[in-house]
Amino acid sequence: MLNNSRSQVLFNQAKQYIPGGVNSPVRAFKAVGGDPLFIKRASGAYLYDEDDNGFIDFINSWGPMILGHGNELIEAAVTEAVKSSLSFGAPTKKEVDIAELITHMVPSIDKIRMVNSGTEATMSAIRVARGYTGRDKIIKFEGCYHGHGDSFLIAAGSGAITMGSPDSPGVTKGTAKDTLLAPFNDLDKVKDLVTANPDQIASIILEPVAGNMGCVLPEPGFLQGLRDVCDQQGIVLIFDEVMTGFRLAKGGAQELYGVMPDITTLGKIIGGGMPVGAYGGKEEIMNYVSPEGPVYQAGTLSGNPIAMAAGYTMLSYLNEHDEVYQQIERSTQKIVEGIKKNLELLGLNHTINQVGSMFSLFFSSERIVDFEHAKNCDTEKFGRYFKAMLDRGVYLAPSQFETLFVSSAIGEDEINKTVDSNYEVLKLLM
Ligand code: PMP
Repeated sequence: MLNNSRSQVLFNQAKQYIPGGVNSPVRAFKAVGGDPLFIKRASGAYLYDEDDNGFIDFINSWGPMILGHGNELIEAAVTEAVKSSLSFGAPTKKEVDIAELITHMVPSIDKIRMVNSGTEATMSAIRVARGYTGRDKIIKFEGCYHGHGDSFLIAAGSGAITMGSPDSPGVTKGTAKDTLLAPFNDLDKVKDLVTANPDQIASIILEPVAGNMGCVLPEPGFLQGLRDVCDQQGIVLIFDEVMTGFRLAKGGAQELYGVMPDITTLGKIIGGGMPVGAYGGKEEIMNYVSPEGPVYQAGTLSGNPIAMAAGYTMLSYLNEHDEVYQQIERSTQKIVEGIKKNLELLGLNHTINQVGSMFSLFFSSERIVDFEHAKNCDTEKFGRYFKAMLDRGVYLAPSQFETLFVSSAIGEDEINKTVDSNYEVLKLLM
């Protein structure tokens, strides 16, 4: 058993001053019935907690740390940037550089606006889509998470599911009525909604690969089908690539699947670990954004020079090192193949979904193609799996409804240890 006494003390203290003791719900380990570990530092593939336990990190700050922790280039860029002041609230060369680089890496983006989080990116993207089309309604998919903007906290994934509030109190009925829902991968339902709401749908928004109900892949033809519906009906297609952007390929899921959205939302990797989000897309649509156009959106710290230094360095590195994507995919495949072999040896038929460096082991024998299937997983068993893996030094996402992320810092030792621990733990749980 893990010695987590320092974390316990800190958690008890934290609960006095911070709701639930954490600054983002899923960190509380509530979904797996445990108490969170307080992290002191991280290096490469490893996290270290306040009790000096080390863990192989499969969360990577929920995505951003694709190169692992303590990347020297990013640290050097941040240290250099700090010398010129932490913030100006005025335009900088770095913002031009990163915008140009992103439009090069993600060809569907002609113009881009930087914000401070994925939540801000999706909230703003929807506002622009509404301003551009003059329509109010949006279609989102059950189990997709787009941050905590009111319009999206309806059948939302991620922490919203695990805290039992996919439809959060505090979202007004007026707002909720403009968010229409479809099951992920259900093109017919989308078409029905569009037919039933003629000329009223501003946008269809989705995670092109869902990561917030566990990792769920688009079925063949689903993304292209949505593209076609949007083209026919003048609807703005938004790919929320906060997770998948710069992770599944330089150009994100849209590059991998060859389907281009009108607007892309970005976050996580784009900031190299600093708080950054962005939304960008076709010039004609982005020209609606203030001060060029009438749709208002602003931010005191948007384009912050330290965040831009980290983000630009991260993206430049990825842009120049295609081999990173091959490496992290290979590592992920080795882990997935190892787990599949374990399942076979133990006579278990759990489901694994994987694409690139994202994967989930579902405690279910069904194919997981949408939220309904994901919800049927044995979450109690997942909780026991999570804790036993943690005891063995493997830090997974503390919920069945989150994808795992593999970084380039994960090597053969970490792969072998993860697969071996998986075997021991699955055997224990049988
Ligand atoms: N969209 C997606 C697809 C996400 O995964 C997340 C966060 N996990 C968000 C939006 C919200 O981003 P943030 O937490 O930075 O507000």
